[in-house]
Amino acid sequence: MTEGFCMKCRRKVEMADAREETLKNKRRALVGRCPACGTKVVKILKKA
Ligand SMILES: [Zn+2]
Repeated sequence: MTEGFCMKCRRKVEMADAREETLKNKRRALVGRCPACGTKVVKILKKA
């Protein structure tokens, strides 16, 4: 499963609706939501 860090819950959560996006700085990241509070959770991906 995809884990991200929720800034609001201040703990790692399992991201809901996780999908891969390319950010403005051309880094790739997984973007999803915290299942507990609904806050957007972003996890930067290391270069493959
Ligand atoms: Zn949360």
